[in-house]
Amino acid sequence: MFGREGGIAGEKRPLRRVALVATVIAAVLTLGVVVRVATGGASPVAAATAPVEARDLHVDGDARRTRISLDLDRDVPLQVFTIAEPPRLVVDLPETRFAFAADRGGGRGLVASARWGAEAGARARIVFDLSDPAEIAAATLGEDGLGRLVVVLDRSTVPAMRAARPLRLGGGPETTATIAAAKGDRDRPAALAATPHAPQPNRPVVVIDPGHGGVDVGTRSPATGTFEKTVVLDMAAEIERALEATGRYEVHATRTEDVYVPLGRRVAIAREMKADLLISIHADAEYDHSVRGATIYTVSERPSDAKAAALAAKENAADALSGHVAADERDEVGDILADLTIRETRRFSLIAARDILEEYRRHGRLVKGEAHRQAGLKVLRAHDVPSVLMEIGFLSNKEDEKLMTSPQWREKIAGSLVTAVDRFFHERGVPGMARAGEAGAAASP
Ligand SMILES: [Zn+2]
Repeated sequence: MFGREGGIAGEKRPLRRVALVATVIAAVLTLGVVVRVATGGASPVAAATAPVEARDLHVDGDARRTRISLDLDRDVPLQVFTIAEPPRLVVDLPETRFAFAADRGGGRGLVASARWGAEAGARARIVFDLSDPAEIAAATLGEDGLGRLVVVLDRSTVPAMRAARPLRLGGGPETTATIAAAKGDRDRPAALAATPHAPQPNRPVVVIDPGHGGVDVGTRSPATGTFEKTVVLDMAAEIERALEATGRYEVHATRTEDVYVPLGRRVAIAREMKADLLISIHADAEYDHSVRGATIYTVSERPSDAKAAALAAKENAADALSGHVAADERDEVGDILADLTIRETRRFSLIAARDILEEYRRHGRLVKGEAHRQAGLKVLRAHDVPSVLMEIGFLSNKEDEKLMTSPQWREKIAGSLVTAVDRFFHERGVPGMARAGEAGAAASP
């Protein structure tokens, strides 16, 4: 309907305005009801509710006004909000099965493209990349008894977008209360929340961090379309299995399924788990398809070269791509003694990188040139957890892709990583080794 707006005669406009005002009032009323119910202390429902099914997605309109409609199988509590820079519209849903084609929703009106996927904590998210700043003129859910979400976007300005507030819609009183309670627990992966940490002084804690996930697919193979998020999840699972099998380590993962976990949350998980080592797993891609092999990154304020700087920019964009507003990327470190901790942590990160490089040189393939690079990667910024990021290979290279998607190769690489991790902790005097924060007579974290 909005697609034909240009052709609508002037005298019909007032009627359309009345309709829009009515829709806005309906949206505001819905919001009011939701807020009242959420503070009313209704009992939470069981988490075993079946996932919502998202059956279709339509985008209509032009560069001034765009209408998005999302067909759900029922009325559920959800949240709609915009992010100003770059301009995006985000729809947060409970756990959802997306039953429409991957090419839905892009390239019309104010919507340049759309992505969707699972989020940590049994939730889902749709991100619409907007071609221009826009604000929500109206949003309704479940009118006429259908589970249809309709969002009308009007072209707007960045300041107006910044001032806009999230809109909550839909759901019975009980499910609404559940969502409200879950808000306090944002970004916490359900798997970790369910398994409390039991301190085991003689077993070093290793956190494996498979990059990307959910709406953020990472890079992809130009030949087969294989996603980085899938390859690195498989690789991480194999590393976790191999480390656990030794019985020498307590192993945790920042994600174990196809969900997006914000970068700051990944760092927080490593710190909460009192990790002695964080290994973040990624895969790279290059315009030059002949480039192949692994690269190991450690954190540094100054990138070691232009390639390292470009890679950090690409990996750090994950939060923005998935519609997460970046929190302060630095750790909260108030004490000057923390400088000592940071220095110690970085020294241990370099040792871990060297150990991994050594093993990789023997059993894998490193990228030509300098295989150890440094850059300001957000996920490596825990001030008291030695952290390395591995780009295990290039999805733009056919041979590398073949290896990375092979269980035998992953097993071999995981085995050599175990050897590298063993050496790292041996050098640090395990058992009974000092943690990074204590080694330099620094304040404990
Ligand atoms: Zn990546």
